Amino acid sequence: MRKIERSEIFIRRKKNAQFVRELGGFGGQHPNKFEQKICHKKLQFYSIRYKINSEILRFNMEFIETKKEINMSIFDELIKLDETGNIRFTRWIEWRHRSIGLIHCSTCVALDKCWFLDMKKPKHPQHNNCHCYMVQIPTPNCDNTKAECPLDKFTGYIFADKYLWNGKRKLYETLGFTIEDATYLKKEYEHQAQAEYCKGNYQLGKLDPRGQRINIDIKFMRNNRQIAFTSGWMVRAKGLITNNTPLGD
Ligand SMILES: [Zn+2]
Repeated sequence: MRKIERSEIFIRRKKNAQFVRELGGFGGQHPNKFEQKICHKKLQFYSIRYKINSEILRFNMEFIETKKEINMSIFDELIKLDETGNIRFTRWIEWRHRSIGLIHCSTCVALDKCWFLDMKKPKHPQHNNCHCYMVQIPTPNCDNTKAECPLDKFTGYIFADKYLWNGKRKLYETLGFTIEDATYLKKEYEHQAQAEYCKGNYQLGKLDPRGQRINIDIKFMRNNRQIAFTSGWMVRAKGLITNNTPLGD
């Protein structure tokens, strides 16, 4: 294990306590000196949230290898490595709308209780006097999330004659799909979208009073080549996403 140089301790100690509170450690209480000391090494690792540059990332990559020696416990699931070895922040939040006085923002109401990766959430605050706040939640999984794609998105839209002009049917047909496959496609979309949403593999789209839209890539194999269709979804409360369009324009 490489010795951590003094110069590498880049985080200000004051930030540490704030960090622990934000992460929800110690029951949300202000950690005492002893607890702060225990956490100090962990906090160096998580401090990249405050200062991100390649040097620090490199340092933290090395730190990950020492992870097993340091009990990271509650902090563990907040940062993960993706397939390419890059650090991913996996902190999730639930948006909470709070209406105070006469202020009523329909966009904020639509976001109420919606789940987002902390790094990929709508702008906060949304407006002056926005009283919305974030609550940290555990990383969503396949048991507490759901993706719904109405069958009609395929039978009544993609494969419907009246929408032939938009060329989308042709794209599905080149993959060998027909209207007969609508049920398969619905299930495949729901399965893939749920999995990708839980992994935070989505892009934020348009936000308006109807809600926050996200894009998710749905992948199909064709002649040993992977083809991705960008599908559009609406984020609903408590881990639900519903399909707007199977194939975006
Ligand atoms: Zn608000």
